Amino acid sequence: MENNKTFACAINCMDGRVQDAVKNYMKENYSVDYVDMVTEPGPNKILAENADIAIIENIKKRVDISVNHHGSKVVAIIGHFDCAGNPTEKEEQITHLKKAEETVKSFGFPAEIILLWVDGDWQTVELVS
Ligand SMILES: [Zn+2]
Repeated sequence: MENNKTFACAINCMDGRVQDAVKNYMKENYSVDYVDMVTEPGPNKILAENADIAIIENIKKRVDISVNHHGSKVVAIIGHFDCAGNPTEKEEQITHLKKAEETVKSFGFPAEIILLWVDGDWQTVELVS
């Protein structure tokens, strides 16, 4: 573990098209050196449904490492255009993001939670809340 580098955490989609956009957004807006990526297909849907306990626990374990071992102070949850894991419109995905936030809050980690939307140009990142 490095002592002088800063981290943030992103519960991101596994989709390769959104990795750079999310990483760059977090590095620019939260002045961190590294972004830990916890990836699943359509993580906003998985966390909103909060039904698959094995996956939820696995996400929690990885966010725990990012927050409590790397010192991440912000955890982003991502939704994006054309998501194969969550093939719904933006509006519904934003509803999922807000429910997902409640699930991640329930983990009880000392970090700010933000919700991000990545557009179809694979560069534009919108802060939902
Ligand atoms: Zn996706």
